[in-house]
Amino acid sequence: MKKLYYPILLISSLLILVSGCNQNATVADYPIQPVPFTSVKLTDNFWAPRIRNNATVTIPIAFSYCESSGRIKNFEIAGGLDTGRFQTIYPFDDSDVYKIIEGASYSLQTYPDPKLDSYLDTLIWKIGLAQEDDGYLYTNRTIAEMHGGKGLHEWASKNRWELDSVLSHELYNLGHLYEAAVAHYQATGKRTLLDIAIKSADLVNKDFGIGKEMVYPGHQVIEMGLVKLYRASGEKKYLDLAKFFLDIRGPNGEAYNQANKKVIDQNVAVGHAVRATYMYSGIADIAAIEKNQAYLNAITRIWEDIVYGKIYITGGIGATGGNEGFADPFVLPNMSAYCETCASIGDIFFNHRLFLLHGDGKYIDILEKTLYNSMLSGVSLSADRFFYPNPLESNGQHQRQAWFGCACCPSNVARFVPAIPGYIYAVTDKDLYVNLYISNESEVTIGSKKVKVTQKAGFPWDGKVEISVDPGSGGNFTMKVRIPGWAHNEALPGNLYKFDDQNYGNFSLAVNGKPFIPEVLNGYAVIERNWKPGDKINLELPMTVRKVVADTRVRDDIGKVAVQRGPVIFCAEWPDNNTGNILDLVVDKNSDFSTEFVPSLEGSLIIKTSGSQTRKTLNGTIETLEKEPVTLIPYAFWNNRGPGQMMVWLPIASEAAKPLPAPTIAFRSKVRASKVTKALPAVNDQIEPVNSSDHSVSYYHWWPDKDHWEYIQYDFEKPELISKSKVYWFDDGPDGGCRIPDEWEILYLTGNTWKPVKVKSPYKVTKDAWNSTDFVPVEASAVKIKVKLKKEFSSGVYEWIVE
Ligand SMILES: [Zn+2]
Repeated sequence: MKKLYYPILLISSLLILVSGCNQNATVADYPIQPVPFTSVKLTDNFWAPRIRNNATVTIPIAFSYCESSGRIKNFEIAGGLDTGRFQTIYPFDDSDVYKIIEGASYSLQTYPDPKLDSYLDTLIWKIGLAQEDDGYLYTNRTIAEMHGGKGLHEWASKNRWELDSVLSHELYNLGHLYEAAVAHYQATGKRTLLDIAIKSADLVNKDFGIGKEMVYPGHQVIEMGLVKLYRASGEKKYLDLAKFFLDIRGPNGEAYNQANKKVIDQNVAVGHAVRATYMYSGIADIAAIEKNQAYLNAITRIWEDIVYGKIYITGGIGATGGNEGFADPFVLPNMSAYCETCASIGDIFFNHRLFLLHGDGKYIDILEKTLYNSMLSGVSLSADRFFYPNPLESNGQHQRQAWFGCACCPSNVARFVPAIPGYIYAVTDKDLYVNLYISNESEVTIGSKKVKVTQKAGFPWDGKVEISVDPGSGGNFTMKVRIPGWAHNEALPGNLYKFDDQNYGNFSLAVNGKPFIPEVLNGYAVIERNWKPGDKINLELPMTVRKVVADTRVRDDIGKVAVQRGPVIFCAEWPDNNTGNILDLVVDKNSDFSTEFVPSLEGSLIIKTSGSQTRKTLNGTIETLEKEPVTLIPYAFWNNRGPGQMMVWLPIASEAAKPLPAPTIAFRSKVRASKVTKALPAVNDQIEPVNSSDHSVSYYHWWPDKDHWEYIQYDFEKPELISKSKVYWFDDGPDGGCRIPDEWEILYLTGNTWKPVKVKSPYKVTKDAWNSTDFVPVEASAVKIKVKLKKEFSSGVYEWIVE
């Protein structure tokens, strides 16, 4: 690394920044400034232990996976410290290392750790060695060039940057590098990573621009990274570069990465949800700094599109796995809900920025819902297991993993969790916004006045909050205390979800012990006075258990309710309920709810109600079994006791349930298949799809295998006389990898011999329908379907019935 020269002016602006909140910055920025997490010391029992676990468990294991997977060795090889080929799968693997450095930097500010600090120093030294002389940093290409171009990832082109709008992820890696660099500089005062970032950004600035490279980033994040670098350095060229990367998107690109329109013409949320929310956040940054109305209009329209049709009650976004992103409005399947953990984090970034622009509590309502549900579900209570998708229903096929080949989600958790205290407060020169209720001791700066703020809260279980202020000799400012939408009568902003009743308690507020009826403006109780040391606000929010119903256009939620208390969404999970069967439950429409705390699940609050199991009969009707207690746990805490059935949207009508199977031949059989996966029980669960790409019910598939024969087999307890088969094929074309098969046939086992059945008419291969086959009756001890997969595609089965 060559030493770079920085003007005195730049260093002084960096010093302002490192001193904490840059609310005194003279440059234009968000009209409301967050109080940085470094000024907020948590004293609560819910988040503080999680942030500690993130420091002691998540970050160390994340670095250890980066070591063992070869992510760090890639930097060592590129930097000449080691030899060999590129060690990992994806060219974006560099980004995980940057994200964990960002998280570790945040973490150091709460939990000083000299060992971690010096580990980061070594790691940053390696990154610096891996950076090419002109500033280029992308270990895959650097290593490939050491081997005469061999090993260059197929997503990258021979020339730098050329394929970035497709898949090379060169700029994506750098966006995370810039975020990490600013975080590390703020945490430690060391310029090491910041210098690497600046050298890189200067190269990007030299290579890209009008008349130079005009390639837009295929995976957005560099826009946010460059804005942070601009704030840290005061160099406007980085801000201009961020805007350049936004303005060259569209109109002739893919919706998948939001390049189908110019950003200022975009109206709806489309494509990959993580790319989308990172881009919307970048647009918000520029809109705030440059007062850009066209940008502001675009993200306002997009936010409405999300909250009116594309968000789950858990705050999760991105309904479909095929594009890891947004589906059409109201297409919100529960079992196959993608809701990537990164998309939840991205949506928190986006909504926080909209709040900082507008000071409206509705954005924090979304942020809070996402935080306590869809985001939190992404990490286990033990802090060492992670979800990539966060579905709202499971048949037992979902389980948190220790790590992933594509490790974006755990590394995002590692960097997001330590920054959570930074979402509690925000200020203008005359207002203090209290957004989240988490016990803490803080120091905030309102105008030029330093104010100590103490919050005592038992959130999210208890609705009582006490906020005390100490403005020294006293001070005139306005406290804006958030009254969440759910404390009025709004389950979530937008009208996609609503409470099924109007029986809500109201909030109450007292100032210095005296009841106070405030004006509530944009979701905030406004309390303006000359505050004195020891002044206290007592807020009590109603923590009633409420039932939520979805817009009837959300097909998967018809005849069902979700249960919400405060911002927390609850679910039914297998360990708490009778036989472990959950999906067949119907809850009593009119039953009461009671709450209690349990020692398991970290002393969580749980909800008790009642319901019944449902079961199919052999003649096709549904019977409702005896009434039984039903226990609900916080959604975010599911899957901490092993995989099994789980359900957020609870049927109140038996037609909406997935009844226990009738004792058919298929159900009584032992199922085998050429490829054994957790999805195998789907083939005889008697849950029918609506069509061949119905993601709301479970299916079995052979993906990614293709172009050969596979099978599913039923072994009977005793020989059965059979004469009919019905199979329903899975086909997620045109986007997915499965299609109906080329051909198939039925074989039966008699003695030790497999024989084909004699069909009465040719085999059909039909999409979106049952494929029924009558054959000459045979007595068999087992039956199998042999399936020939297409040359280019795999295949799958929803259900296979034998009669
Ligand atoms: Zn992810």
